[in-house]
Amino acid sequence: MKPRKIFLLPGDGIGVEIMAEARKFIAYMNDELKLGFICEEGLVGGAAYNAHGMPISDGDMRRALAADAILLGSVGGPEWDGVSYDLRPEAGLLRLRKDLQLFANLRPAICYPALASASSLKSDLVEGLDILIVRELTGGVYFGEPKEIIDLGEGQKRAIDTQIYETYEVVRIARVGFELARTRRGHVTSMEKRNVMKTGLLWNEVITAIHAARYQDVILSHMLADAGGMQLVRAPKQFDVIVTDNLFGDLLSDVAAMLTGSLGMLPSASLGSLDEISGKRRAMYEPVHGSAPDIVGKGIANPIAMIASLAMCLRYSFALNIEADRLEKAISAVLDDGLRTADIYVQGMQKVSTSEMGDAILEKFRLISA
Ligand code: NAD
Repeated sequence: MKPRKIFLLPGDGIGVEIMAEARKFIAYMNDELKLGFICEEGLVGGAAYNAHGMPISDGDMRRALAADAILLGSVGGPEWDGVSYDLRPEAGLLRLRKDLQLFANLRPAICYPALASASSLKSDLVEGLDILIVRELTGGVYFGEPKEIIDLGEGQKRAIDTQIYETYEVVRIARVGFELARTRRGHVTSMEKRNVMKTGLLWNEVITAIHAARYQDVILSHMLADAGGMQLVRAPKQFDVIVTDNLFGDLLSDVAAMLTGSLGMLPSASLGSLDEISGKRRAMYEPVHGSAPDIVGKGIANPIAMIASLAMCLRYSFALNIEADRLEKAISAVLDDGLRTADIYVQGMQKVSTSEMGDAILEKFRLISA
């Protein structure tokens, strides 16, 4: 069996606390399920800045590039507020995404039945919700040039951002979306603004062509992104996989996130291209939330986003689908038992710490795997 190499980057703040929980699962899978994970560990964000004067060192970048998958906690915190823009903790994340060419960001919005009442929508609209938002991550208006503010004189300025997409960028994200839909309920909804944007027209044209050529077994729908936002809060369960660009994906995935309750529950994956020779895809897995400076060191952070990110890692980097399903079932079972960290606590439930939540999920995972 080939070793499965995971590079762990706990980062800052609660990243360190929730990574400690993820490590328990990796140790269990190695010791008892003999899955052969080899873990190295590095520094990213403020921790790397303190140690090396940069948000990720060249040595750790090399180790990240050599790994099969990266598991990251979170970066940032007030300690580094005064650090120059290029060296701020978040720049470590951006470098990882850029150098690993992670162009597809996957954000599942899953509403565990036990948490349906924590959603801002009515329970019956979100109970059992399972959407996957596939957001293009390395192109579009956040990166297009020119990107500048020009001083026009007489108190006037002109700010310019440029939205650019080329065919290959839409092709590769479309393929990720269609492939994933095949492993789910077989429905892709593509969202853009073809009514007012040229990039929307191209996006729509390319997705339609790829679908006709290679993915006719998947149902494809098109929706204008603004209508999509409305539908997400009106009837979210109509969606399976949503494929959209960087800007719309940023907004729509945050909207979908709020349907499910707490930030502490949301995992994510960022994937690169499939290497046809090795069959591997570069990938990084991380919770959606940040370093939560307001609760750091209190032992109350919710580790579920981190553990669910590990489940995504098992599924997408190592094709360990059975183990990934079991891990997700273990999370759901612990919530059904009424265990809650402070962020998702409601009266009548049992309040637990970060490590108690991790241990309880591990125990369920052990039972389900036996
Ligand atoms: P945040 O996500 O860190 O926290 C927002 C709120 O959610 C806080 O009240 C926090 O306590 C709570 N929260 C977040 N995760 C939680 C968890 N697992 N369990 C319980 N409660 C949780 O966002 P913020 O406060 O805006 O940012 C703090 C720092 O994190 C900043 O430096 C920001 O730049 C950075 N950040 C990093 C990432 C990342 O690493 N990917 C993402 C977002 C923000």
